[in-house]
Amino acid sequence: MAITKVWLDESDNECTMCGACEAVCDAVFEVPEKVVIKEGVDFAANEAEIKEAADGCPVGVIAYAVDGSDKRAN
Ligand code: SF4
Repeated sequence: MAITKVWLDESDNECTMCGACEAVCDAVFEVPEKVVIKEGVDFAANEAEIKEAADGCPVGVIAYAVDGSDKRAN
């Protein structure tokens, strides 16, 4: 399955601006204040790093969906 959407899901917690996701995958994640998901990025080409960043987010706010779905897959 290929990641086709990545977003910030703060329904339970807020991004703490720790910068861990940017350290893992700066092609996709940028943390100037709160994390920004860059536009126009090939998520499938950064899939392993997106999953690592999502798994490593201390508050679990990095969400991704696969295969064109809008439903959170992680
Ligand atoms: S790893 Fe999570 S809490 Fe840290 S900056 Fe990224 S989204 Fe925010």
